[in-house]
Amino acid sequence: MSLEFNEEQDLLRKSVKKMAKERIGPRAAEIDAKDEFPLDIADFLREQGILNMAVPEEYGGSGSGIVTLCIAAEEIAKASLSVSTMFMVQTIGGILVMKAAGTEEQKDWYFPQIIKDKKLGCLSVTEPEAGSDVASMKTRAKRNGAYYLINGTKCFISLGGVAEFFSLFAVTNPEDRHSGISAFIVEKNTPGFSIGKHENEMGQRGTAMTELIFEDASVPERNRLGPEGQGFRIVVGVFNQARVLMAVEAIGVAQSAFDYSFNYAKERICFGKPLTEFQGIQFQFAEMITKIEAARCIVYKTAHMIDKESEPEKIPRFAAMAKYFSTKVAMEVTTEAVEILGGHGYTKDHPVERMMRDAKGIQIYEGPSNIQKMIIARSLLKS
Ligand SMILES: Cc1cc2nc3c(=O)[nH]c(=O)nc-3n(C[C@H](O)[C@H](O)[C@H](O)COP(=O)(O)OP(=O)(O)OC[C@H]3O[C@@H](n4cnc5c(N)ncnc54)[C@H](O)[C@@H]3O)c2cc1C
Repeated sequence: MSLEFNEEQDLLRKSVKKMAKERIGPRAAEIDAKDEFPLDIADFLREQGILNMAVPEEYGGSGSGIVTLCIAAEEIAKASLSVSTMFMVQTIGGILVMKAAGTEEQKDWYFPQIIKDKKLGCLSVTEPEAGSDVASMKTRAKRNGAYYLINGTKCFISLGGVAEFFSLFAVTNPEDRHSGISAFIVEKNTPGFSIGKHENEMGQRGTAMTELIFEDASVPERNRLGPEGQGFRIVVGVFNQARVLMAVEAIGVAQSAFDYSFNYAKERICFGKPLTEFQGIQFQFAEMITKIEAARCIVYKTAHMIDKESEPEKIPRFAAMAKYFSTKVAMEVTTEAVEILGGHGYTKDHPVERMMRDAKGIQIYEGPSNIQKMIIARSLLKS
């Protein structure tokens, strides 16, 4: 499979790289320190046609495929993982769920609000007692005439505090596990819906991560995405794309930590010469860059497979391998970068400690490593 990019994609990489370096990178430390969602950066990315590029062209987006989305996400993640998470969550929870499961009528109503009314969306799956085991969720959507009454609590929802639309997954039939879950779009002004506590995260701060609370929240039947009982199938399909985007974010942060520590080591004098002149340090860098390039290959190969719809039965395995491997590499490389800066790396005077904290978040989000390994192993056993 070719990992080539077309001319348009090469141009996109150049322009996102430039805007991320100029407009996002200088804000990364402040977003982390203040833990405030950067609305101005969301506006900027929207104006530049990046934030909503996955929206179909007929609604004013670019209809970008996963390879193109990955290019943008990688460059943004090099500047700030919090901002690339904003981009990724809007793409997944705000756009791809609707693209995958919305009717024409729902898309006509929804996408203009994303594009023209500048609304943000997010993905609401996790609950305090159901994370990896999605099918054990308890949030209940009970039919009541032309409405569903929704009760339950979701947690760790990125963009929860700023989104206006929530792609919600809830149980419509408690007798069934996987086929008892349905998907909905919930609007922020829904009676009975409220935003719960703000989560005080270790990293990826400034992503407005909150709890969501549903107390007899009344959601019209027309806001259900797909038939009743199809929610699990929808979320699993969207997770395949989300995992690739998360994996590419991991490559972005790893590359950034590599670049920073490499430049630092070239300048840092120890025992009378630059650190990079010691073979032990050279070997560390050799390992770091090899892992990053290997991760990049698997991620873009998977992205191409999704766009080309080639070997669809292998996509869940490849998406899980991409997510597992790249986030592991990001953790290893960012930790190594801190080590290379020594005590300086352990302070907030340098960005590598933030990168290390940020990298841990993507290793957990959308299924921690053990869950990815379960998916890989199950797929192997089935094939
Ligand atoms: C930065 C960040 C952003 C997030 N954003 C969102 C969001 O926008 N929307 C959303 O819905 N959720 C979000 N989440 C939640 C995230 O998806 C869950 O935290 C994740 O799926 C794990 O669920 P859990 O926390 O309940 O852990 P648990 O399911 O309790 O798992 C705990 C540990 O046990 C391991 N484990 C579980 N089962 C098994 C098993 N059978 N075999 C071996 N090991 C196992 C897991 O690998 C994990 O390491 C976010 C989380 C983070 C950290």
